[in-house]
Amino acid sequence: MGKVTGFMEFERIEEGYRPIPERVKHYKEFVIGLTDEQAKVQGARCMDCGTPFCNSGCPVNNIIPDFNDLVYRQDWQNAWAVLDSTNNFPEFTGRICPAPCEAACVLNVNDEPVGIKSLEHAIIDRAWEHGWVTPRAARIRTGKKVAVIGSGPAGLAAAQQLARAGHDVTVFEKNDRIGGLLRYGIPDFKMEKLHIDRRIEQMKAEGVVFKAGVMVGKLPEGSKVTNLAKETVMPEELKKEFDAIVLAGGAEQSRDLPVPGRELDGVHFAMEFLPQQNRLNAGDKVKGQIRADGKHVIVIGGGDTGSDCVGTSNRHGAKSVTQFELLPMPPEHENKELTWPYWPYKLRTSSSHEEGCEREFAIATKEFIGEKGKVTGLKTVRVEWKDGKMAEVPGSEQVLEADLVLLAMGFVSPVQSILDGFAVEKDARGNAKATVDFTGGYATSVDKVFAAGDMRRGQSLVVWAIREGRQAARAVDEYLMGFSDLPR
Ligand SMILES: Cc1cc2nc3c(=O)[nH]c(=O)nc-3n(C[C@H](O)[C@H](O)[C@H](O)COP(=O)(O)OP(=O)(O)OC[C@H]3O[C@@H](n4cnc5c(N)ncnc54)[C@H](O)[C@@H]3O)c2cc1C
Ligand code: SF4
Repeated sequence: MGKVTGFMEFERIEEGYRPIPERVKHYKEFVIGLTDEQAKVQGARCMDCGTPFCNSGCPVNNIIPDFNDLVYRQDWQNAWAVLDSTNNFPEFTGRICPAPCEAACVLNVNDEPVGIKSLEHAIIDRAWEHGWVTPRAARIRTGKKVAVIGSGPAGLAAAQQLARAGHDVTVFEKNDRIGGLLRYGIPDFKMEKLHIDRRIEQMKAEGVVFKAGVMVGKLPEGSKVTNLAKETVMPEELKKEFDAIVLAGGAEQSRDLPVPGRELDGVHFAMEFLPQQNRLNAGDKVKGQIRADGKHVIVIGGGDTGSDCVGTSNRHGAKSVTQFELLPMPPEHENKELTWPYWPYKLRTSSSHEEGCEREFAIATKEFIGEKGKVTGLKTVRVEWKDGKMAEVPGSEQVLEADLVLLAMGFVSPVQSILDGFAVEKDARGNAKATVDFTGGYATSVDKVFAAGDMRRGQSLVVWAIREGRQAARAVDEYLMGFSDLPR
């Protein structure tokens, strides 16, 4: 509960950032975590509200009031034990989770919420530093074999839980490195990749086998989805070899903008642009890298992926960076009475935006304009929203200069050919169809095939992927053994 009167005595403390001129010169993390004293004060603000909405606001149901109190008492090892009991990878969420828990914090009703994410960050970094995070290999092996397709947060969480339950787990990943979007989507300046590498070592010691560079099934001809596979295995082979299969291949099909000029050179999906920089940072040679240096960059799409394109373009040395959003500018502050404890609709300014970006709201792109096959600009129009319907504002057409356009308008669905390869039923949005019911959840329409993460729920968040990986692991364990001791 922290300090009884802490919430009245102390203000929320934000984590610091390195100065912009310094951090845009590199791709390293720049968040300055809390000191012990700051963390103690942050923890002291938790007010023992009695009904901790933060706990249900957090998709993995972190037991937040308990670790807040333990940090306040500076009992870091027990704070880590509490955190570790619900979250396989707090070093990921402590860095990149949007923290719906904080929106749900009871103190947020009429004050600033407890900085829960900053405490999670502090606890797990300390745990690694002090060597508390060690492999926990199962003492009894079941002899059951499970294949996990995809090594993003859902696949990793499922694999770790299943290995700890004693199963022989093999993770198949089409790209050359393990980690999914944590590795090849999220830029290093938001999360350095050593955090994934350490977990891979831990999981290997727990018995997980990683097969990177292996494609399961086939991508459609001409697909622009990142694929660094050197080998292919077909779903039928896996079905014969394994007792259960978890589909955790993400939702990789980017949403396109099929307006005239889409074929011009210089118009790319965000997910063509971002992985290249992460690979370069990892020491790979990338032929013909898409660069933003000295260019007028326009990012179409106002979400996380778009913001990551902004941060990366500024690090390349772009001449200007502009981000488009189709929707109108949200209010600066939410109406707490209407939204609490849910995720509020309000303007969000990321650290990448602060590094330099013009943000245009209520704007649509009608055409890409080019010369000699290369994009030189965008024809745009202002839009108005009435009763949920969009209408163009007559006479508001404009041409904006652009030498690089990045499409960051989200993801439509998983790659359909992969789901078709397993012949699983799909939902109306093209995701693998499976419920999250306590009994029978995460099971697809095909015997022994389960689905979790973005491949089941559609484009989402790392913390939801971890939750689904954990819950799917329990469902698989129950399917294989008739019961499960894994937490749900
Ligand atoms: C640029 C970007 C930034 C983001 N930033 C954030 C953020 O800051 N915070 C946040 O919470 N969320 C963020 N997200 C969303 C988050 O990354 C995803 O919701 C999450 O990674 C989904 O996890 P997953 O395990 O389901 O799938 P993924 O992470 O997509 O992993 C799926 C893996 O499966 C592999 N795969 C697919 N098909 C096959 C196959 N047939 N054979 C072998 N391997 C296969 C893929 O190569 C991939 O590595 C971001 C997403 C993007 C694109
Ligand atoms: S995982 Fe996300 S929602 Fe859960 S406690 Fe951490 S920051 Fe909050």
